[in-house]
Amino acid sequence: MEELMLSSEVIEQIKDFNYQKLTSEQSLLIDKLILNEELKNRFKWYGLCNECKQPKTAYVWCQLCGAKHFQQNFKNWTSGNHEVDKFIQKTQLKANNDREILEWIEYDRFENVEYLTKGGFGTIYKAIWKDGCIEKWDTENNQWKISKNIVERHENFPVVLKCLHNSQNITAEFLKEIESHMVTSFFGFCRPANVVPSQDEYKEIYGVLPYVAPEVVRGKEYTKESDIYSFGIIAYEVCTGFPPYHDIAHNQFLAIGICHGLRPKSNYKIPQLILNIISQCWDADSLKRPKANKLVDLLEDLYRSLRDHGTSNYEIKKQIEEVDKINEKLFSSSLSHTGTSLSYTTNPQAVCTSRLLDFKNLPEPINAIDDNSIEYSESIESIDFTKLNLGTHLN
Ligand SMILES: [Zn+2]
Repeated sequence: MEELMLSSEVIEQIKDFNYQKLTSEQSLLIDKLILNEELKNRFKWYGLCNECKQPKTAYVWCQLCGAKHFQQNFKNWTSGNHEVDKFIQKTQLKANNDREILEWIEYDRFENVEYLTKGGFGTIYKAIWKDGCIEKWDTENNQWKISKNIVERHENFPVVLKCLHNSQNITAEFLKEIESHMVTSFFGFCRPANVVPSQDEYKEIYGVLPYVAPEVVRGKEYTKESDIYSFGIIAYEVCTGFPPYHDIAHNQFLAIGICHGLRPKSNYKIPQLILNIISQCWDADSLKRPKANKLVDLLEDLYRSLRDHGTSNYEIKKQIEEVDKINEKLFSSSLSHTGTSLSYTTNPQAVCTSRLLDFKNLPEPINAIDDNSIEYSESIESIDFTKLNLGTHLN
């Protein structure tokens, strides 16, 4: 990797500037001196590193110095697996901020380890990390500053541990996949640690069917767009309180239904403005789903309308009040509401843990023509597929 660096002549001219209060002359000079866009932005956003005098890569982080400090410590730890060591070291050398690093933590640094649940290929525990994670380099004491306060009001550092079955047989390919998921996709990271993926166009796909985008269920790889789909499904679950398709079997019929435009549906009403955003996320056409930054804008707009009374439109507030009334009427009378949480029965064939999704001959994904064209029912086998406009969408 070629290092991006300013020459010592340039540094000499700008080292005394206050990057947060640049005068217009200083700003012009910087535009003239620093032609590389990334270096220029890094200087304007974060200023120069106290140690190496190069532009920092985050508010309290310098990639060059971080890499140097980590490298000096490589001899002091090992996971016992050469591939894993190399993998962790690589993240430490490349990190542009504290969130991009991995650390090797010995098991005895955790306490109060408590079993939570079992997944398809791992077991989940919660625990307290006795030390806490690296926050920044402490130049005064010449060591890493450790943060114990990941969450405000927490004195210790709560973590979730995932114990991967077969982790002693972890493969380099598996680590490569984690690496790609660290920057792109997250939901796909749930297959056995010792399985090498095939190199075909259509690969073996692991996941929890209701959360997996239809194009992925058909065998394409996980992408940023398929993560947005998964986000939409999770958002709907969070809003309604019901896991998606919890009352039906998670089989070939459900996979076909999802390709035909079936999406979760609940009697529990959620505001239309929120539902509109969720519906965009689970569009059958992956390119029509909003990008992550657009999604943030859409959600922030709603949040701001709620927060800033008077200045913005009241539509979302009105909708929330309306659905609250409907939901209260619907669920206060029914037995499905027990105190603060909703209770429901889960179909014995609803699989909520990660597994190999191996469905053959699935149709090209389409959106349902309208909400009623695909009826959500307890028995998905009863879906009348002849009502769907299959002919026009299938080649
Ligand atoms: Zn530095």
